[in-house]
Amino acid sequence: MGITPHPEHSEAGSVCANGCHDETTYQSARRLSKNQEGFAQRTCRPHVPDLVCAAVAPPSSRSEPPPPRRRNRTRQRERMLELLRETDRHPTAAAIHDALCAEFPSLSLGTVYRNLEVLAGLGHIREVPVPNGATRYDGKTALHHHFVCEVCDAIQDVEIRMPSGIEERVRRKYRLRPKRFRIDFYGLCHDCVDRGSTPSNH
Ligand SMILES: [Zn+2]
Ligand SMILES: [Zn+2]
Repeated sequence: MGITPHPEHSEAGSVCANGCHDETTYQSARRLSKNQEGFAQRTCRPHVPDLVCAAVAPPSSRSEPPPPRRRNRTRQRERMLELLRETDRHPTAAAIHDALCAEFPSLSLGTVYRNLEVLAGLGHIREVPVPNGATRYDGKTALHHHFVCEVCDAIQDVEIRMPSGIEERVRRKYRLRPKRFRIDFYGLCHDCVDRGSTPSNH
C-alpha cells in the first residue's frame, strides 16, 4: 500500500504510542493475514498498524517503554494456551485472535502467529495442517487422530485403537523405523450430513 511505519519503529520489537508493532511484525502480520480466508465470526476490527502509524506524526523524543508490556505479552501467551486447552474445535490463528482481541485490544494477528509458533516449538500445542486451508491449532498434545469435514472444515478428534503391525509393515517394506503414526480422515461431519451437503472434489 506504500505506507511505511514511522521512524520510531527502527528498533526491533519497538511499539509506537498507539501500540503499533515494528516493521518485522508489520510485514509478518501482513504476510500471514493472507492465509486467514474462510474465518467467520470476526467480532473485532482487525489491527491495522500501517494506517495508525501513517496517521501519527513521529514524536520528537522517544518515550519510556511501558513496564507492563512484557507482563502483557506473557499473559497473552498464557491465554492462548488456556483457550486451546479449553476447546476441541482446533481453531485457526485468526479465530484465536478474534477470541482475544476484546481482552487485548492491541493484539495483532502477527503476534498471535508468533506466540503459537513458540507454544508449538515448546510442545505445549500441536499444529494441524489442513489441505486448502489455514493451519489449525490443537491444545491436546497426546497422540490422536483427526476427522476433517471437507465441507465446513470442522475438525474432530478421533480416538480409536488402530490395527497393530502398521509400523512393522512400513519398516519391512521401506527399511524405515517409524515410532508412531497419525491418521487423518476426510468426509462429512454430522452437521453437514444433516444439511444434506456434498463434499467438493478438491
Ligand atoms: Zn461439516
Ligand atoms: Zn485434535
